[in-house]
Amino acid sequence: MPRDARYDVLFEPVRIGPVTAKNRFIQVAHCNGMGTSYPSSMAAMRRVKAEGGWAVVCTEETDIHPSGDMSPLIEGRLWDDRDIPAFARMNEAVHAHGALAAIELSHSGPRDACLYSREVPIAVGHQPVWAGDYPAQARAMDKGDIRAFRRWHRDAAVRAHRAGFDVIYLYCHCESSLIGNFLSGDRNRRTDEYGGSLENRLRLTREVLEEAREAVGSSCAIALRMTIDFPSASGRPDREESRAAIELLADLPDLWDVTLREWHADSVPSRFGPEGSHEEFISFVKKVTRKPVVGVGRFTSPDAMVAQIRRGVLDFIGAARPSIADPFLPRKIEEGRIDDIRECIGCNICVSADFTMVPMRCTQNPTMGEEWRKGWHPEFIPARGSDDKVLVIGAGPAGLECARALGQRGYEVTLAEARDVLGGRVADECRMPGLAAWGRVRDYRIQQIQRMANVEVYMESRLGTQEVLEFGAAKVVVATGSTWRRDGVGRWHTQPVEGHATSAVWTPEDVFAGRMPIGPVVIFDDDHYYLGGLLAEKLRQNGSAVTLVTPASDVSKWSHATLEQGLVERRLLETGVEIIEKHTLTAIAADEVRIRHVQSGRERSIPCASVLLVTMRLPDDSLYLDLAADPGRLRDAGILSLTRIGDCLAPSTIAAAVYAGHRYAREADVPPTDGVPFQRELIALA
Ligand code: ADP
Ligand code: SF4
Repeated sequence: MPRDARYDVLFEPVRIGPVTAKNRFIQVAHCNGMGTSYPSSMAAMRRVKAEGGWAVVCTEETDIHPSGDMSPLIEGRLWDDRDIPAFARMNEAVHAHGALAAIELSHSGPRDACLYSREVPIAVGHQPVWAGDYPAQARAMDKGDIRAFRRWHRDAAVRAHRAGFDVIYLYCHCESSLIGNFLSGDRNRRTDEYGGSLENRLRLTREVLEEAREAVGSSCAIALRMTIDFPSASGRPDREESRAAIELLADLPDLWDVTLREWHADSVPSRFGPEGSHEEFISFVKKVTRKPVVGVGRFTSPDAMVAQIRRGVLDFIGAARPSIADPFLPRKIEEGRIDDIRECIGCNICVSADFTMVPMRCTQNPTMGEEWRKGWHPEFIPARGSDDKVLVIGAGPAGLECARALGQRGYEVTLAEARDVLGGRVADECRMPGLAAWGRVRDYRIQQIQRMANVEVYMESRLGTQEVLEFGAAKVVVATGSTWRRDGVGRWHTQPVEGHATSAVWTPEDVFAGRMPIGPVVIFDDDHYYLGGLLAEKLRQNGSAVTLVTPASDVSKWSHATLEQGLVERRLLETGVEIIEKHTLTAIAADEVRIRHVQSGRERSIPCASVLLVTMRLPDDSLYLDLAADPGRLRDAGILSLTRIGDCLAPSTIAAAVYAGHRYAREADVPPTDGVPFQRELIALA
């Protein structure tokens, strides 16, 4: 289909200093858990972005010197010439698809403790290292350090140029990078020419920018990625001073990339902020520079993108998460395939890979991180390997993705769902406060399946053993999901909690079904991800008094990894939820629960009318187990393979369920292996 003329503006070429971007889409820097540890994986992932139509494809933060070692985070590294080939591999792949390659040079200063290099971290002044609360301090830089720091940047720029980069970014984040620390009036208390006035605090950024340009001549563009809400000496974010800083540097960089200081605001989870939410903070930038400006905002709608360009907010649409969920986003817009866009849901599972230090995964895009390891491509999939008919039972994220991907391969697929809605847990959870965007997991897949003549969907079709045997499918996939436990067993309790068998006990499924616990309610959250906190919010909206008890040190503790924890805690406190951390539930009685401090063992009672248990789930695997119990019966029914996937095998994240569905579809006709199921990047022995 031809592209919609309304979107033509998105495909105009734009100059960035000496180079030209073919359109207005920039995949801005994003960590990915591959970086320096898995460079072939990283290169293949970036290649797919370039293939998908991004005009500029950028690396993650790349540390330029052992004194800025970001370990244990897996980021980029450009310490010496030996680091060049890994980036050259990426750049060759990116260039092959007509995109520009960009690198984000950074020195994180006192953020990281240099755990690998064991160098002493350096900083604008003496201060504790802050990432991970590591018990170390960074030392104040003297003039010699500043000279060296400038030299490292020049050297890194030259190496970046030799590696084939077209755009060299300098990272000026007021907390996460050393030049940004100098800029921050809060951090920078120096009394020399690098401290005090704004001009002085900008001096190092200016020097590094100018010297990078000198080092690479006119062959590369020099971009500046800067926070636009850095704190002044008062310690509070100062937008006036940030504006003044950008005015002072106005036309020095070839490209401005503007970000927000707090990562949870910059990559705001959809539960806490809509698409395009940066506009009010960044719209001034274009007024103070003649250079092009890129910004982000979880853009997935071409109309929202065009609106920002037309209103003069941005010149380039920047994206990290939307480019992860759909590396082919620009191409789909260009080809008039808007309905095919796999929209980011804003869950930040991708971000969690940075903290867990593993190759990135994405809820919407199961091929993310598997481009090199497994040769998976987000758009293409091999044609079917047999004429086997496939029956997929259960249309949650696992079953839906399985049916979609099998359908894409050309298999004849029947998807049977017990309920009168599709989506499984997603259909329930996306009706909870703030999670509407998560419904995209379901909507994208339904939309694709509806166009496939070879995939039939039956709702209100709860299949039992006999129906499956009589169905006549050669391959049967059971994706029947899971159910929350009603007895309190979970991370903390291996045995049911005393008193659990009463009508005062509720589970998340009760709330999803509209059976609301009567208040006051105690939620026992031993799951530690989002659901306990989310249901607390829901019940408060419903008017109940809510106390959330968790053995973890923080409410919704794992959501630190998705940048949500602080936002969840703030919202619960604001809405009047009482939070009791580091306590477990020991007994449930008629009108109270007993709780115990996990360290001291001290017990106390909390009066309540209901208890909502969010502890763990059990697979709904009875259908699978019954079928699997009699292989002869399966053979007689012509069933060649029976497989359980997703939560029915082991409950996990929505991302894991989508991945399981996709994996089944990819591997349905591949002989199973009990070896390592992917290519590995082995370290060459020195
Ligand atoms: P997953 O995350 O693994 O996809 P979900 O719990 O989200 O799991 O979805 C499982 C889906 O399977 C639910 O929509 C449920 O209604 C459906 N289901 C469960 N048992 C059957 C069955 N016997 N026949 C058809 N559908 C079923
Ligand atoms: Fe978007 Fe979630 Fe995928 Fe990240 S993991 S890109 S937030 S859908």
